[in-house]
Amino acid sequence: LIPGVFVLKDMADAHGIVAAAATARRAVVLGAGVLGLEVATGLALRGISVRLVHIADRLMERQLGWEASAVVESSLRRLGIESHTGASLSRVITAKGKVTAVRLEDGSEVPTDMVVMCAGTIPETSLARAAGLPCDRGVIVDECMATGDAQIFAIGDCAQPPGGGRGLVAQGWEQARTLVGVLTGRSPAGEQGEVTSDVVRVKASGMAMVAMGICGDFDRSDPRYRVLSLKDPEGGRYVEVVVSGGHLVGATCIGDADVAATLSALYTRQLPVPSDPAQLMIRALSGGGVAAATRDPQDLADADHVCNCNTVTAGQIRHAIGDGCTTVKDVAAATRATTGCGDCTGLVEGLLSCHSASTDQPEATPATQGACHE
Ligand SMILES: Cc1cc2nc3c(=O)[nH]c(=O)nc-3n(C[C@H](O)[C@H](O)[C@H](O)COP(=O)(O)OP(=O)(O)OC[C@H]3O[C@@H](n4cnc5c(N)ncnc54)[C@H](O)[C@@H]3O)c2cc1C
Repeated sequence: LIPGVFVLKDMADAHGIVAAAATARRAVVLGAGVLGLEVATGLALRGISVRLVHIADRLMERQLGWEASAVVESSLRRLGIESHTGASLSRVITAKGKVTAVRLEDGSEVPTDMVVMCAGTIPETSLARAAGLPCDRGVIVDECMATGDAQIFAIGDCAQPPGGGRGLVAQGWEQARTLVGVLTGRSPAGEQGEVTSDVVRVKASGMAMVAMGICGDFDRSDPRYRVLSLKDPEGGRYVEVVVSGGHLVGATCIGDADVAATLSALYTRQLPVPSDPAQLMIRALSGGGVAAATRDPQDLADADHVCNCNTVTAGQIRHAIGDGCTTVKDVAAATRATTGCGDCTGLVEGLLSCHSASTDQPEATPATQGACHE
């Protein structure tokens, strides 16, 4: 890569970007998917003026509909990030070995000191191709994770299952469990049942955002779905919930971390939604009802998932704590919880606090029972 042009695949890349950001005043981020938004906001918070160049006609087009994308775009603008949708980069311009600008396909030039490419990853399939396995974008596999050769299997980002790869840690674990079942002929030990692994979170400082299940560009008039939304573009907030059969089957939440966490919990735990689904948003926004009930570590049932990336339940974490884990790091080493996107760290801390509160005060009184709420 030209000096000043970066990708973000591993820690070394991240260190390179951070080092360049120390002296850069302007940056171009190519691609407004999850990673592009995380990089753009990270750079903006370092005081860099950021241009986000995205080929699709709206931001995060796989997860966001038009209205949600518009809310994100104005939130980004408030953070100092200017978005160019429907645009693509044709050339990086350099002078004396340094990046000075990029040229977009419409011929316009955007001055910049650095470029970060977040335009997606391509699975490394060369070994599979050389072995004669059918490959498309990734290594093609069936529902059992078998490739074109029945004795060779593929899981994780390199695999292309019938429904497509999501590029998320949780899908890899789901596939690993499936494969264990296929190879041993029985359910893998510690199997947690069906897990919903399509919750996409943007971990961008200054802009909470989560999308799950049915979201983005879908048919909102489909009679199977009841779709409710709240829009507050001025406040940078947008919430849409999609309910079907008494459960949350999709949601998009921008600008409110608490509501996002509540909706994620309802979706992944498949809790029944209130008969009036509007309460999902109204009660959640007011900080009561469903929100409080689903996010308190004390209320988690043992079967509830805490770490969705690694499908770790509250029961497994309690067990690890009972076995002597006293810190989040211990719990991570014992269960893998928190080692994916890290979103569940607060819940793990809460479970640790609940445990220490109960062991510090073995005879809980009404006054001490609520200690871990504080
Ligand atoms: C910056 C970034 C942030 C991310 N954030 C999240 C997130 O918040 N949540 C989430 O769920 N997902 C996230 N992801 C995606 C997540 O990292 C991947 O889905 C996950 O790592 C896939 O696991 P894997 O084991 O399939 O592949 P990888 O983690 O890529 O591991 C594959 C390994 O195989 C090695 N390898 C390749 N070819 C060969 C060969 N021929 N021989 C031997 N070894 C080989 C590679 O070097 C690599 O070490 C993120 C990804 C990136 C890049």
